[in-house]
Amino acid sequence: MSDEVFAAGARVGVVTTEPVGGFAGLLDYRAPEGGCGTGDFVEVPLGPRRVLGVVWGQGDGRFDEARLRPVNRVLDAEPMREELRLFLSRAADYTLTPLPQMLRLATRAPGLGDAPATRRIYRLADAEPARLTDARLRVIDVLRDFGGAAVTLGELTQAAAVGGGVVKGLVAAGVLIEEEAPRDLPYPRLNPDLPGVALAGDQIAAADALIAAVSTDGYSTTLLKGVTGSGKTEVYLEAVAECLRLGRQALVLLPEIALTADFLARVEGRFGARPAEWHSGVTVTERRRLWKMVAEGGAQLVVGARSALFLPFRNLGLIVVDEEHDTSYKQEEGVLYNARDMAVLRAAILGCPVVLASATPSLETWANVEAGKYARLDLTSRFGTAELPEMRAIDMRAEKLPGDRWISDTLAHAVEARIGQGEQALLFLNRRGYAPVTICRACGHQVGCDHCDARMVEHRFLKRLVCHQCGATKPIPVVCPSCGVEGRMAAVGPGVERLAEEVTARFPQARIAVLSSDLFGSARALKEQIVAIAEGGADIIIGTQIVAKGHNFPLLTLVGVIDADLGLQGSDLRAAERTFQLMRQVAGRAGRAERKGLALLQTYQPEHPVIRAILGGDEEAFWRAEAAERRAAGVPPYGRMAGIILSSPDVAQVFDLGGELARRDGPLRRIGAQVFGPAPAPIARVRGRHRVRLLVKAAKGAALQPALAEWVAQVKLPANLRLSIDIDPQSFL
Ligand code: ADP
Ligand code: ZN
Repeated sequence: MSDEVFAAGARVGVVTTEPVGGFAGLLDYRAPEGGCGTGDFVEVPLGPRRVLGVVWGQGDGRFDEARLRPVNRVLDAEPMREELRLFLSRAADYTLTPLPQMLRLATRAPGLGDAPATRRIYRLADAEPARLTDARLRVIDVLRDFGGAAVTLGELTQAAAVGGGVVKGLVAAGVLIEEEAPRDLPYPRLNPDLPGVALAGDQIAAADALIAAVSTDGYSTTLLKGVTGSGKTEVYLEAVAECLRLGRQALVLLPEIALTADFLARVEGRFGARPAEWHSGVTVTERRRLWKMVAEGGAQLVVGARSALFLPFRNLGLIVVDEEHDTSYKQEEGVLYNARDMAVLRAAILGCPVVLASATPSLETWANVEAGKYARLDLTSRFGTAELPEMRAIDMRAEKLPGDRWISDTLAHAVEARIGQGEQALLFLNRRGYAPVTICRACGHQVGCDHCDARMVEHRFLKRLVCHQCGATKPIPVVCPSCGVEGRMAAVGPGVERLAEEVTARFPQARIAVLSSDLFGSARALKEQIVAIAEGGADIIIGTQIVAKGHNFPLLTLVGVIDADLGLQGSDLRAAERTFQLMRQVAGRAGRAERKGLALLQTYQPEHPVIRAILGGDEEAFWRAEAAERRAAGVPPYGRMAGIILSSPDVAQVFDLGGELARRDGPLRRIGAQVFGPAPAPIARVRGRHRVRLLVKAAKGAALQPALAEWVAQVKLPANLRLSIDIDPQSFL
């Protein structure tokens, strides 16, 4: 893949952003008047429409010479660099995503080829508004949310859900200023030579190592590990400073929800100007500006959510992935990719360093460090006072809970004590909605699947137990299949919503907040809720893993883990890891608040090695225990997995096709891979479409992607059935 120039009329291969042209997505056209070159952004005819594309190289010649249509025009945008084209191709191969869909991720800015021009933008004047209707207030709120960013009339009316008249009225009243602004200005220069904090102790050595990596030409990945407050951000900002000094660009990725005004202000404090930001709250106008400036070199540092990885950097010299263990790096819709892994891929192609920062690295990263693929730098806690909370197991076999309750008396008393002192308690349950497990309260036996190493999940409507891995079902037993006692079988491990009911009944005076990603319409709403909670807006927080994202809740001193056994039996590969990460992160918070934290783990298996490692608070011991379990089960990071999701409005159709795939498993068997399913997908119905999943397991060295491609190509997909492949799936429930 190199850069070529094509004379007018020559046959060129173009990848468009439309899902045609097969997997590689190449369509042949004639080079336009004046010619074109590899990487050029072009507009090409596709049927009756004109669509965006990129010249990828020579045409493959499959299209009839006489019917070739010319490229309409070459857009006035920086050509896509070879590095980015290569990255998109490899990422497409890895995730088994058609290239056009991948290209779409890299062109998420409108009007890429429009000529520079001015447009009318709006900002707040200093004047105090006189008469504030709700509509006017919304406009003002939207502008405040966007900070100093340029906002057009269309963006403003849409975000505030008002008509243009409201905005014009505010201008007339002197509350807003309307002005002509040039499009796409460069971002203010950052000054890497402003003094940072004076680093101390192992921070110095860590910063030196990262600075050395930035100044050396070449790829490397380094885990920067340290508890919350140990100075990881200060240290990697030194590496960013060095990168800027060398005249190269830097990218800092954060989970969307950690991308707060506080963080941006901190970066601004370090470099004297605001970096470019890229996340779901950025206006379309700003998106376009950022995209162009990144390509032209007018943006030195981008702080962004996962999709910032697909920006057309001119000269990228460093990628930082902060909170690298965070599950939000995995995109679960559309193109299924993990931004952490893709960051490593892009850096390897570019020849630049990656820094993975975390207090609680993922097991994948830990295994890569162990295998010598990644370097590791440790920061000891020096600037936070973070210390582990006291951790205890609650042996649920002794608690004699009735079948419809999940909070033990021991936990409930602890909650009462804490909230009685004006402190907060968090009840953690990594299960959205309603998803119980069936267990015998006499002996602790959990009903498992006869065919897989998974627990069976009760489905309310089916009135049956279902295995989410292979789809097997059975009636809900009345008599325990293990100890024979009758009438003690019960559903435990409710979803957070069901847990909230119990909390409301049990603590009628308490203010309760439920934090679950599916309960919030937008990242902004979620961030607002988190700020409100941190300021004391709730007594009891009920949450899924989204609470474990490094937020600081100063009043939080008690964590109750409702079902610490989740994940010990393979129904969710990463549940134990998440529980452990949560313990560590909550520990960081409790320590900061200068109140001794307490963590209580409800478990039916207090002697399980993973539970014991969590309680012992010994990270290396936990990792070793968890790694041993995963190695024995042959699952990631010691084996490979892929999920195949089929969806259709027709439930019989998805199961039929899933069954056909499961039977025609020749291409998979040839590489020694196994297929499980079809089973109802983690979310079995979305927007009226039924979803089933097949799970493929293979050995670590297996050439999984080509086998998967060959396997799914055997079946013909009906028009309304969609198939998507999820390499390295993250969610299992
Ligand atoms: P982490 O990213 O590991 O959570 P931070 O880099 O955010 O840690 O550091 C936590 C706090 O401690 C920040 O307010 C930071 O400015 C401060 N801090 C860290 N290192 C130093 C230092 N060497 N001197 C002064 N303040 C520091
Ligand atoms: Zn099963």
